[in-house]
Amino acid sequence: MANKILVFVEQVEGKIKKSSLEVVSKAVSLAEAHGYSTEAVTCGKEVDASVIAEYGIASICCYVNNNLVHYSGSAYRDILLAHLDGGEFRFLFAANTSQGRDLLPRLAARTNSGMLTDCTTLEIDEQGLTGTRPIFAGKAFEKAKVVSPLQFATLRPNVFEALKKPVTPELTIKNVDTINEAEKVLEVKGSDGKIDVAEANIIVSGGRGMKGPEHFTLLEELASHLGGAVGASRAVVDAGWRPHSEQVGQTGKTVSPSLYIACGISGAIQHLAGMSSSRYIVAINKDKDAPIFSVAHYGIVGDVFEILPALNEEIKKIKS
Ligand SMILES: Cc1cc2nc3c(=O)[nH]c(=O)nc-3n(C[C@H](O)[C@H](O)[C@H](O)COP(=O)(O)OP(=O)(O)OC[C@H]3O[C@@H](n4cnc5c(N)ncnc54)[C@H](O)[C@@H]3O)c2cc1C
Repeated sequence: MANKILVFVEQVEGKIKKSSLEVVSKAVSLAEAHGYSTEAVTCGKEVDASVIAEYGIASICCYVNNNLVHYSGSAYRDILLAHLDGGEFRFLFAANTSQGRDLLPRLAARTNSGMLTDCTTLEIDEQGLTGTRPIFAGKAFEKAKVVSPLQFATLRPNVFEALKKPVTPELTIKNVDTINEAEKVLEVKGSDGKIDVAEANIIVSGGRGMKGPEHFTLLEELASHLGGAVGASRAVVDAGWRPHSEQVGQTGKTVSPSLYIACGISGAIQHLAGMSSSRYIVAINKDKDAPIFSVAHYGIVGDVFEILPALNEEIKKIKS
């Protein structure tokens, strides 16, 4: 009898991702409401399961092997396929991050399962999962349902709350001894310890209006005052001013922070697709007709080179 919800928990460089803990919490609350049991599964070179254990999950299974140090789509797929075999799981959830978006479709295709992506709401009824996700750059919401025996969903980061719950989960560590060398990912470009833009609660994002890479120090300063991350438009990434890991939008990352400050960004539809579900959007742009103002909760019509230094100065004063 399939009575378990499985959550794929991501770790990067040995650290558990906050977005996965949000998924764990959502799985735990759905399980409690509908009489399911929960399990977290994670893969890595070594995994510190104690972080996952704080979020109310009933059991944790860690697959470890030196060759699993970095995410590998095919290696992780094979491990998860074997883990799902046996019919005890009804659902598999993951965060809608690049790993979740890569792994779950591979598994769904192999198991002939239905899948919901980028959910901002997720419910369970007799048939299974119903989820909502923003479409057309957040202008509309699509409600979708899956009816297959095994059902998958990815959840948008920063939408569900990660809630600590005191339980002592059952922990299993499994050494994986057969990882094909060809499946091993040798290197992943490091994030230099910066907050991942997809996980950040506050994002200070810059566009072509910043005029050049050297002026992003203004955004870095503001982001560091606020404890946030720096984001970028595609124009800026294409120009080589900022790394692709910071790109927000249709071909970059989808973000849902509490606060998104768009500086010198016009608000093209492809950019809005990645950030319009942010809780509060502040736009700074010298063109009062820029489309970014149509989604902004607060707008400042003005020059970023006047406003950002003044803002940094004021925040510095308040903090001191
Ligand atoms: C298939 C496809 C996918 C795409 N994917 C993405 C994506 O993922 N993410 C993304 O961002 N874009 C994406 N784009 C590109 C998108 O269409 C826009 O070209 C891009 O977002 C524009 O970036 P921008 O706002 O930085 O630049 P611009 O559109 O050039 O806007 C610059 C803005 O800065 C303002 N400005 C200039 N000087 C100042 C100043 N001193 N002070 C204040 N404001 C100032 C201007 O008024 C203007 O509004 C995609 C396009 C396509 C076709």
